[in-house]
Amino acid sequence: MPVLTLDTLIDQVYMIGPTYARRLKKLNIFTANDLLHHYPSRHNDLSHITTINQVKPDEICTIQGKIVSCQNIYTKLGKKIQKAVIQDSTGSIEAIWFNQTFIAQTLKPNLTVNLSGKVGWFNRRLTLTSPDYELIKDKQPVHTARLVPVYPETAGVSSKWLRSRIIFLLDKLKLQLNQDWLPENIKQKNNLINLSPALNQIHFPDNQVNLNKAHHRLEFDEMLLLQLEALIRKATWQKKTLSHKFTINQSKVLQLISSLPFKLTSAQNKCIKQILADLESDKPMNRLLQGDVGSGKTVVAAIAIYLSHLNGYKSILMAPTTILANQHFATLKTVFANTSIKLKLITSSTKKATTANADILVGTHALLFRKLKAKNIGLIIIDEQHRFGVKQRSKLISTSKTTPHLLSMTATPIPRTIALTAYADLDLSLLDQMPQGRKKVKTWVVPPSKRLSAYHWIENQLKKHKSQAFVVCPLIEPSDKETMKDIKSVTQEFDNLTQIFNQLKLDLLHGRLTNKQKNSIIANFQAKKTHILVSTPVIEVGIDIPNATIMVIEDAQRFGLAQLHQLRGRVGRGDKSSYCLLFSDNTNPDILKRLNYLANTSSGIKLAEIDLKLRGPGDIYGLKQHGFLDLKLASFSNIKLLSQTSQASQDILKNIPSPLKKILNQRKIHQVSPN
Ligand code: ADP
Ligand code: MG
Repeated sequence: MPVLTLDTLIDQVYMIGPTYARRLKKLNIFTANDLLHHYPSRHNDLSHITTINQVKPDEICTIQGKIVSCQNIYTKLGKKIQKAVIQDSTGSIEAIWFNQTFIAQTLKPNLTVNLSGKVGWFNRRLTLTSPDYELIKDKQPVHTARLVPVYPETAGVSSKWLRSRIIFLLDKLKLQLNQDWLPENIKQKNNLINLSPALNQIHFPDNQVNLNKAHHRLEFDEMLLLQLEALIRKATWQKKTLSHKFTINQSKVLQLISSLPFKLTSAQNKCIKQILADLESDKPMNRLLQGDVGSGKTVVAAIAIYLSHLNGYKSILMAPTTILANQHFATLKTVFANTSIKLKLITSSTKKATTANADILVGTHALLFRKLKAKNIGLIIIDEQHRFGVKQRSKLISTSKTTPHLLSMTATPIPRTIALTAYADLDLSLLDQMPQGRKKVKTWVVPPSKRLSAYHWIENQLKKHKSQAFVVCPLIEPSDKETMKDIKSVTQEFDNLTQIFNQLKLDLLHGRLTNKQKNSIIANFQAKKTHILVSTPVIEVGIDIPNATIMVIEDAQRFGLAQLHQLRGRVGRGDKSSYCLLFSDNTNPDILKRLNYLANTSSGIKLAEIDLKLRGPGDIYGLKQHGFLDLKLASFSNIKLLSQTSQASQDILKNIPSPLKKILNQRKIHQVSPN
């Protein structure tokens, strides 16, 4: 065995071999240090020791006493029962276990033992049934007679096993843990205990007060590291030299704006101004344009693209799906109809298209696999930026030899607290206003009893207004990819609805279709050849079909509010009244209450804030790609913590101590982070 350090790979740790290592991987535990930071989800308070004469039926209690006897008993049915008698100064009690023959070898007479468990009746006697047991030598108890940690577990990894390995590491790594990476002045200022006692107490607290202190220190660490990473990304980005400085030709821009078939909203004007200021500066832009679905982000992007063109540079726009790339391509074509700008669409089905003389490349991930001979890229735009991994984003940016301006766009509302911390490296532009004439989408939660009448109502609506509807089915497992199971279930629903709406024309859209198939399905829907489009959440972002007025969401409780809001944004894009029906067979009042927030709120950002409170940040993104936002202890709702760590991260940034540098580097290896 090599010398144990915090960095020791988990399969090299004493008593943890490759089998456990494989299981621990599922809990994101790869090193000894990771295991130490696998925090308990709660503690069972077994700290009070009950004397045997005070033991009461149906209570969970801990007793301490001497083992009088312990033996295996074989029942008539061939089962093995282990029966022990324990005695303290007030009396004696029996304890039984089932089929754990090794217990009789462990609990030898005259040893002192703690037993924690439930008291019940067995053969008409008060008995402890399958209690946790722990022999008391000179060490502190781990599994009994204390605040006992209970951990997030996975198959083959129990809390009991985790306790035994964690206490081992805490002991063996004591010296290393004494080297705290957090500067002394930050600890003093924020009332933080040292790392070593914090880790000891978060797992095996002496009491609630110490547990709270440990919590505070480790929450602080978690949030601080997140903020520090964002600040470092910001500093790194700002150090880059901009490839091309732009000059702004006001009159040309105004000319383009006045050629649009609508008047820009004042929010659009505000965001354009912010972007133009960035483009004029000699630092590369790194801005996030955030606006609800339908708020008109594409036009804002188009103005930036136009400026890049006027300055003689190319632009790239990357979108997460072919459908969206097609749509952007079409939109930009209309916006630039009266200019000499040449657009090119790059998706997996346009492999041979040359990019040589295009001014704007619009495309999907396929852009990443093209050898873009792009010496003069002035601007890169990434739509729905959170759909791309860090690697993909940096690959796209590196297609340009020097650093271009970067504009990310998202319809996902990012709560302010997250924007200011985890996204502190991005400048934020908010499109907080919808174009005029947009109607609110009436939203209802539909219980199972009203499902049939809802179908009737939908059919009537579609016939009466010659409008169209979406039906979205959730993915079965939370994931960013559709599995065959998902396809099967959406296909079943499609068959079912085809029978219900037998006078209408339905079509089915999912991610496993070829791009050609998808495009023709969308084109048919756009051309009003189909009435109802049944789909997986692939249609979540972006597609723009103004004649669609009804959005039905199956098993709505499976989605986060922000994601539901995005789906709802697929309708209400034209001038007809629009509706969103949330189907849910779930009768849990908390879930219905959550869905009703959607019925009563039309602001994406408000819904995201509610989601953040109710379900944590993971759900805001619907997909869990943002692993880095899944905090273990800290919370984005903890304003005091956010402001303390924000101050501390700025202080530390000036002079990052080398142990901290090492930690930051290691985090980079297995973490997904934003821009
Ligand atoms: P999103 O922000 O969801 O990407 P889009 O850019 O696709 O929104 O715009 C949605 C629709 O609204 C498009 O059809 C676009 O032409 C239209 N639009 C954009 N800005 C305005 C505006 N100021 N007034 C009216 N319609 C607009
Ligand atoms: Mg869009």
